[in-house]
Amino acid sequence: MATQKRVWLFRDGNRSLRDLLGGKGANLAEMMNIGLPVPPGFTITTEVCTDYYASGRQLPEGLTDEIKTALADVEKELGKTFGDPNNPLLLSVRSGAKFSMPGMMDTVLNLGLNDEIVNALSQVADPRFVYDSYRRFIMMLSDVAYSDQYDHITKHDFEHMFYDLKAELGVTEDLEVPAESLKALCDSYKAHVIKQTGKEFPQDPFEQLEAAYTAVFRSWNNERAIIYRRKEKIDDSIGTAVNIQAMVFGNRGDDCGTGVAFTRDASTGENVIFGEYLMNAQGEDVVAGVRTPMPISELAKQDPVIYKQFEDTCDILEKHYKDMQDIEFTIEHGKFYILQCRSGKRTGPAAVRIAVDQVKEGLITKEDAIARVDPNLLTQCLLPVIPANAKYNVIARGLPAGPGAATGIAVFSSDKAAELGKGGAGERVILVRADTNPDDLKGMLAAQGVLTERGGMTSHAALVARGFGIPTVAGCSEISVGSDHFVIKATGQIVKEGEFISLNGGLGEVISGQVPVEEAKMTGDFGEYMSWADEFRGKFGVRTNADTPKDTELAIKLGAEGIGLCRTEHMFFEGERRPVVQRMILATNDADRQVALDELLEFQREDFKGIFEALGGRPCTVRLIDPPLHEFMPNREKLIEEVAALHALGKSDPEKEAMLKVVEGMHEINPMMGLRGCRLSIVFPQIVEMQTRAILEGASAVVKSGGTAVPEIMIPLVGHVNELKFVRERLEATAAAVVSEQGVSVDYSFGTMIEVPRGALTADEIAVEASFFSFGTNDLTQMTFGFSRDDSDRFLKPYVAEKILPGDPFESIDQSGVGQLMKIAIEKAHTVRPDIKLGICGEHGGEPTSVKFCYEIGLNYVSCSPYRVPIARLAAAQAALGKGVSDK
Ligand code: ADP
Ligand code: MG
Ligand code: MG
Repeated sequence: MATQKRVWLFRDGNRSLRDLLGGKGANLAEMMNIGLPVPPGFTITTEVCTDYYASGRQLPEGLTDEIKTALADVEKELGKTFGDPNNPLLLSVRSGAKFSMPGMMDTVLNLGLNDEIVNALSQVADPRFVYDSYRRFIMMLSDVAYSDQYDHITKHDFEHMFYDLKAELGVTEDLEVPAESLKALCDSYKAHVIKQTGKEFPQDPFEQLEAAYTAVFRSWNNERAIIYRRKEKIDDSIGTAVNIQAMVFGNRGDDCGTGVAFTRDASTGENVIFGEYLMNAQGEDVVAGVRTPMPISELAKQDPVIYKQFEDTCDILEKHYKDMQDIEFTIEHGKFYILQCRSGKRTGPAAVRIAVDQVKEGLITKEDAIARVDPNLLTQCLLPVIPANAKYNVIARGLPAGPGAATGIAVFSSDKAAELGKGGAGERVILVRADTNPDDLKGMLAAQGVLTERGGMTSHAALVARGFGIPTVAGCSEISVGSDHFVIKATGQIVKEGEFISLNGGLGEVISGQVPVEEAKMTGDFGEYMSWADEFRGKFGVRTNADTPKDTELAIKLGAEGIGLCRTEHMFFEGERRPVVQRMILATNDADRQVALDELLEFQREDFKGIFEALGGRPCTVRLIDPPLHEFMPNREKLIEEVAALHALGKSDPEKEAMLKVVEGMHEINPMMGLRGCRLSIVFPQIVEMQTRAILEGASAVVKSGGTAVPEIMIPLVGHVNELKFVRERLEATAAAVVSEQGVSVDYSFGTMIEVPRGALTADEIAVEASFFSFGTNDLTQMTFGFSRDDSDRFLKPYVAEKILPGDPFESIDQSGVGQLMKIAIEKAHTVRPDIKLGICGEHGGEPTSVKFCYEIGLNYVSCSPYRVPIARLAAAQAALGKGVSDK
């Protein structure tokens, strides 16, 4: 490693060297080499940064010499000398990791200035420009290089002094501050540095340079950079490069300026340049928002010659990179320079539109278009949106828990929401709650959107909201929610029940009044794009997890090719059914139980008929009852309390006490490993016999009316082949009986879920009895790790933070553990049943990395919630093309 080249001149690099030169450095090199006007410079590699950390924060020997050699090259090219008062070369020192981390690390501009140089320079150049540059430099270097060791020398502290100066002068704009005041400000800055650090601001340019680039290395591990990497799942070990580049000056007068632009509109994807710029300013002014920039269209009027250079550069870059670019530029005395380009971040709808447009423009192939879009972004294409040009008033901000936009009247209880909203009076309502619990579900489903004061991104409200595509702002601590109103804490403004509010879930914004909201369209660019994904995906299927005809219809609209998991117990919870289910459980003799079961049969038959109709001949995997029965009973703790309260008053309620006795009898210490799944089918065979009958009678009804139904009956939680054998034999008998009663032929099959590790390990035995497997990766993960899914939040977060696990295994499949069990199961199953149908129905089925894994290990399909169907279709297409979802 010692002989490795550590410093690369821009002209020696290119875009393929992002690992080594970072994204910024690699692109600066690339742009220089295709002839764009890039100020010359060089890059210190990311390896130097990783070495710096590996060696306990030591710079490698010989680095300084390499830097000096590279610097000499730049000096020669520009005819200037670093540190020479008569003709100084000034530098920018810029961070730049492989993946863009905008604003997370540090940059220093105008480096190489000192008192002597500033003095000399102000004789030959505009003194205002000279002192403006010096004050910026003192501020940036102090902030970047020293503020982690000393107090009160952050950018903020210096900005404050500048602000005070402007107040003193009675001006508001930076540009109104004259040269002599800026000169005085530089003196105050230097005095401030001495006061705070006990040392003089460094005057030796080489000392400044080393301080700057080591500070950039340190900034790799500043708090915001760490947090950003965690969020974006960027590897902590890859380090940042440092780019050292000759300065060009946008603050040198009125024919100078600086700006940023996107080569296409990043929110809509429209093929128009979007940008902002400032005249007589340096780069940081635009992004930091100290001055309000002007729209780039102004530049076209102000200076058509420069604008043409800018436009041509955008065009060259797009054609070269074949993607929308985010660029930074500076104009010095009427000459245009480009300082950065990178593939621009964009919204989901913009990503799709740009990809489709670029295929039509002949810029990229359909394969490129498919590989390019992050599947997770598609969620944004499915939700109602606020039109791009709408103006609105944000009154509070919370977490962007469920994207999409919603408008409606504020209501403060679930009952009210259900009464007034969807399924009720049909008004548009926004449910506002301090927090939400499972009982709020009906209110949430009736609402256009949900706003909560408490709860984070994984809160119940957020999970449900994302599952159902409900725009949601959660954890909005800026409001305080009462029983019929909420208060904006900062302003005291009160919003009462019945008043209109709006939510912009994607940004976490709470908006007063109504905003225009448009339904997302499945046609147009989105439809076309998804049809390409389906071409590449080929035979690999995407199904949905759905329990109602309504969800089924939605999922089919979103491209589902069948149901991979229909959970029948959800049908037991609904309104009038629950008492019947309870009667069935409470029955003390077979006759009573049968009466209740017969009633449930009526309900379930209709449920299945509706679902088969909605499916229009597509297959449907129906899982027989799975959860422990006590979930259908009244809450035990509550009953205990109620009975105790009555006793305390000297009263009693025999019915309640009887109920408590039953509930006590059903109580389990660890219900997730208790009487559930196929174990229920063995202990209470009548329940699953009823379900099998309901499925096949429902299917027969559809067949009789000329349709097709393809039920796949799935037995959950099998760990031993004999469990499956026992249940299946009994259910086959029921099925055969129904078919002969109905006199129509229904194409049904029996299979099982693989969700118990023993089931996976003995898959060759189990496959003899099953014509299909569906991997229930939620339970399989839970049981493989021994992590309770419902309680793991508290330790999984620290696990991930401490890198004990690379990520949450309930989100993305743990490929080496859980995934290995899946592979073993597949291999073993194939030995006895080569044509076994294989799918997955856990939450992972809609997560791009897991979908790719499922594709690679040879599953036939994935199944996921309706709104994730497009994500899975795209992820599968990317897997088929052998493209990574993300190379982070
Ligand atoms: P970030 O990663 O935060 O965008 P940059 O390294 O891109 O940081 O620097 C921020 C800004 O500083 C740039 O947008 C640009 O305007 C300005 N800048 C950087 N290098 C130079 C340079 N050589 N000459 C003039 N301005 C520069
Ligand atoms: Mg910066
Ligand atoms: Mg930048």
